[in-house]
Amino acid sequence: MVHGHRLFCRRSLAALGVACARRGLGLRKSVTVEQNAMKVELLPALTDNYMYLIIDKDTREAAIVDPVQPQKVVETVRKLGVKLTTVLTTHHHWDHAGGNEKLVKLEPGLKVYGGDDRIGALTHKVTHLFTLQVGSLHVKCLSTPCHTSGHICYFVSKPGGPDPPAVFTGDTLFVAGCGKFYEGTADEMYKALLEVLGRLPPDTRVYCGHEYTISNLKFARHVEPSNTSVQEKLAWAKEKYAIGEPTVPSTLAEEFTYNPFMRVREKTVQQHAGESDPVATMRSIRREKDQFKVPSD
Ligand SMILES: [Zn+2]
Ligand SMILES: [Zn+2]
Repeated sequence: MVHGHRLFCRRSLAALGVACARRGLGLRKSVTVEQNAMKVELLPALTDNYMYLIIDKDTREAAIVDPVQPQKVVETVRKLGVKLTTVLTTHHHWDHAGGNEKLVKLEPGLKVYGGDDRIGALTHKVTHLFTLQVGSLHVKCLSTPCHTSGHICYFVSKPGGPDPPAVFTGDTLFVAGCGKFYEGTADEMYKALLEVLGRLPPDTRVYCGHEYTISNLKFARHVEPSNTSVQEKLAWAKEKYAIGEPTVPSTLAEEFTYNPFMRVREKTVQQHAGESDPVATMRSIRREKDQFKVPSD
């Protein structure tokens, strides 16, 4: 199954036309995920953050997720000749919302969405299931409090079209991990991961806020040493890292095979935690990960 997922990922990215360009600084490359109706530009930022430019190919209207480096966003928008209308902010932390004020100065008239009054330049405060359009693309706001109390994930789809949907998960769901519980509880993260994000279509592409995949998978391997999905994804992620390529997007179906925080209903994960309840398991493994010394191999 994991082989299937890995092959599927590679094949689909190749089929979708992945274009890579070497970054000026750092290891990671900018990558374009091209689909029929939607294009997503992955823009590495700061040390390990991602900004995402979402483009509606019909209208060339675009939205930017968490534009912490506004100048880089503006350069990409100019280069691609798209019309940026919308900022989607996942949460108020500086490494996600810290570029909003400068971006609205560079590009006046932007609509800035988010779920928290602490977000700079906010023009539209949203709540759970609020919807908006970016050209012909449909965006649904999903409230996922825990990492921060106002955290929003954005589910983007083209209804009736052939493209798989995408979800922009900020610091709630990472590839093989989840965000720290700064302003919430294990119960809230359980709801966010299993009942909100986990019920989206399994082929939904997951675009998260940070490149933490390798260290997350080393913790996943510690929780489930016999899980071959974890072992294979870790080997794949190391290959990607070695050539400076991102490990996003994953899919929700994949996350259920190797992400211990998505697997808190599984006996293996519960046994590792010494718990029999999924929420208690969530609490236990998050605490354990907060103290975890990531091994070098
Ligand atoms: Zn954060
Ligand atoms: Zn962050």
